[in-house]
Amino acid sequence: MEIKTAEFVISNSEIDKCPKDGRSEYAFIGRSNVGKSSLINMLTRKKGLAKTSQQPGKTQLINHFLINDDFYIVDLPGYGYARTSKEKREEFKSIIYTYIYERPQLTNLFILIDIRHEPLKIDIEFINNMGVRGIPFAIIFTKADKLSKGAAATSIERYKTRLLEEWDELPPMFVTSSENSTGRDELLGYIDAIEQE
Ligand code: GDP
Repeated sequence: MEIKTAEFVISNSEIDKCPKDGRSEYAFIGRSNVGKSSLINMLTRKKGLAKTSQQPGKTQLINHFLINDDFYIVDLPGYGYARTSKEKREEFKSIIYTYIYERPQLTNLFILIDIRHEPLKIDIEFINNMGVRGIPFAIIFTKADKLSKGAAATSIERYKTRLLEEWDELPPMFVTSSENSTGRDELLGYIDAIEQE
């Protein structure tokens, strides 16, 4: 699949205000600074589409981008903001979970993990929650260019081992870099295959 058009549609924090046309939605989530905005821009080849920033927690709302007039990429608020107030964290959490659990259009949730990091409790808990709820998801390891091939493989193996402590099956996994477009064809191919079903 090639992305011909990618347009920002709406940014909001209530699922009632999300698009009502029934098109499928592919949502992206991860801890702030994981590289989510960069990945969305890399996939769509539109530099400023999702806002990239050094400032953790900047994307605070649900952002819908219409792709090829066909499906949506949804940029969700990151989870685990250490620097925001407890109240704000709870508010974000409630927005995220309401969207994920109550949005029938959600076709696949991509959970982003920085490939350099050891399995972190906050990510593992989030992944486990999605598994328990039966939310269709895949894992994307980001920033692959920051590690050698060998180190990247070791990191992914560590993640798999951690997940297999609790699950019999592993979710689909992708390795990406927004610096050099690693994983772009694989991810778009994955979305395309689901869309063709
Ligand atoms: P977000 O908060 O998850 O949206 O993260 P951003 O996309 O804003 O990225 C956070 C930081 O990581 C920025 O400084 C990016 O330039 C950097 N970054 C994101 N993706 C990559 C990548 O694939 N490779 C490298 N080397 N840096 C990346």
